[in-house]
Amino acid sequence: MALERTLSIIKPDATRSNITGQINARLGAAGLRIIAQKRLRMTRAQAEAFYEVHKDQPFYDSLCRFMSSGPVMVQVLEGENAIAKNREVMGATDPAEAAPGTIRKDFGKSIEANSVHGSDSVETAKREIAFFFSPVEIVG
Ligand code: ATP
Ligand code: MG
Repeated sequence: MALERTLSIIKPDATRSNITGQINARLGAAGLRIIAQKRLRMTRAQAEAFYEVHKDQPFYDSLCRFMSSGPVMVQVLEGENAIAKNREVMGATDPAEAAPGTIRKDFGKSIEANSVHGSDSVETAKREIAFFFSPVEIVG
């Protein structure tokens, strides 16, 4: 077990549906502590930079348009095995395939508008946290 930090994003479909509180309650119930959080609207250029790893994917343009289409909540979560734990609570990328009781199963609208993002490795988490937060904004 390791105390980890991960970047979480509550995506525009979920801010639009006003369910950020419900999502935060699920994170807390899973033992994930929100140690930094802010609401912002990504520019198209920011979304493109954040998702650069997917730039050759057919869904890249649409994903960047969607992620800059409205406000998001960016968050740093801390907890034991936070990276894997958060992805467990999120569920599979496609809400139709996500396990019962996961955020994406219960709130996701499509494989693109799937309510939340979570870092997928220690290295990714480091890069993604630094993308949105300066060290003084993170209070564990
Ligand atoms: P995330 O990175 O958001 O936590 P993930 O790791 O489950 O999700 P990725 O494969 O990294 O999924 O894809 C990043 C995001 O791109 C997905 O969350 C989803 O919004 C979108 N996406 C992934 N696959 C598709 C697809 N086939 N069609 C449309 N959008 C997709
Ligand atoms: Mg991913």
